[in-house]
Amino acid sequence: MSGLLDLTLTEAVRATRSGSVSTSELVSAYLSRIGRFNGPYHILLEVLEESATQRAHELDALSASERDRLPLYGVPVAVKDNLVMDRGSTTAGSRILEGYRAPYNATVVERLERAGAIVLGKTNLDEFAMGSSTEHSAYGPTLNPWDPTRVPGGSSGGSAAAVAGRLSLAALGSDTGGSIRQPAAYCGVVGLLPTYGRVSRYGLIAFASSLDQVGPITRTVDDAAVLLRVMAGFDPRDQTSLREPPPDVSDEASVRGLRLGILSSYPEGVDPVVRATLDHMTRALADAGARLVSVDLPDPTRALAAYYVIAPAEASSNLSRYDGVRYGKRKEAEGLYALYDETRAAGFGPEVKNRIMLGTFALSAGYYDAYYGRATAVRKAIADGYDRIFERVDAIVCPTTPDRPFPLGERLSDPWRMYLSDLYTVSLNLAGLPGLSVPVGLQEGLPTAVQVVGPRLSEPLLFRIGRAIERAAAPMPAPDLKEGGAA
Ligand code: GLN
Repeated sequence: MSGLLDLTLTEAVRATRSGSVSTSELVSAYLSRIGRFNGPYHILLEVLEESATQRAHELDALSASERDRLPLYGVPVAVKDNLVMDRGSTTAGSRILEGYRAPYNATVVERLERAGAIVLGKTNLDEFAMGSSTEHSAYGPTLNPWDPTRVPGGSSGGSAAAVAGRLSLAALGSDTGGSIRQPAAYCGVVGLLPTYGRVSRYGLIAFASSLDQVGPITRTVDDAAVLLRVMAGFDPRDQTSLREPPPDVSDEASVRGLRLGILSSYPEGVDPVVRATLDHMTRALADAGARLVSVDLPDPTRALAAYYVIAPAEASSNLSRYDGVRYGKRKEAEGLYALYDETRAAGFGPEVKNRIMLGTFALSAGYYDAYYGRATAVRKAIADGYDRIFERVDAIVCPTTPDRPFPLGERLSDPWRMYLSDLYTVSLNLAGLPGLSVPVGLQEGLPTAVQVVGPRLSEPLLFRIGRAIERAAAPMPAPDLKEGGAA
């Protein structure tokens, strides 16, 4: 593999600014790797070769002082295909939006590009971000770069696989219940769910608006911090965005004196490799000066149950706009209601239909209190539970997922088992908290990760602990992609 593709984001910016590498060279190195491996691994749904190449030429023509003002000068990024852009199409992994062309850029895309980033293409995802494996993409699954017979996780599976497989230097994902952190863990890269409201959702195709958040997927913790700084900040076009300045970027990596919460118990079914890796890592953090304090997370199984009521409820409302009238595909039929019915019947895949029906049921008269009402009460109890934990500890170090990358097809007929991979991720979205998934090397050839969870707006602390984990972990090598994919 060309050495160019081994540069981290921070190193690449240094190289392009100094002129030792041109942004055109960097972009064309990534485009040629995409040309070789995107077919077999099915990572990007659309490659924006022309606009990326042109943008690289424009950036190459800038003066040294102009370059120095761009924190992401020449950085190739991939964007999850549920973020709209003013070029190419945006499908959200659904047939109903096949060929849909948005007229504007999502705020996060706008901010990255203004900072000098170059968008290489749009990444594959589970339809409307509903899923944990990318197998629910209407366009076919993405394969895991470490083992093409396994899933990359989801729903941001394409973004995580792109970064792991060196098809992009960094990527944007979205996380409603784990969709940045779980695929990052399965692919051996860093993924951040920012505090709810930290990053604008303007231009993100809504799944469950009170839970959705956009975040970075990168190879290193430093790179995630640099991206977050560019992405974060108030946006008048998203009423839930916080009036908080973007977090500072430092290189602090000391955990000395920090009180870190570790789990006092694990439910049955947590993979022993995940537990052993976590124990090993928390001991390393203790050796580095952290104080370990036993904590119990707000009941993860109840969190999962509440999530799978609230997220579908919000989705059933958000997805009502796809009716064949305003966006994407239309199935002509006799009369308006028949047009709605047929468009939705043909346009949505089975998982999306499940969720719409579940959500509609949970919100319907007579059931609202029993389902939606109870789920929101659980949500409040979970947020309160975290508040109490953060009176005793500075942050929690726990698994990102209870399991490891599973074989393609294994869970398609067993949705509860599929949902279980979100056991440790959904409660953060319910409580609006930030979480950082950091890879800790390969075990039996597959990546394992740990998750750092902190109070609202504690991203700088999460990065600090994440750097300490990175230093204590075995370095992640690059996966050896096969031209024939799983064949
Ligand atoms: N896997 C979860 C779900 O299917 C989370 C998805 C997400 O975060 N977008 O709902």
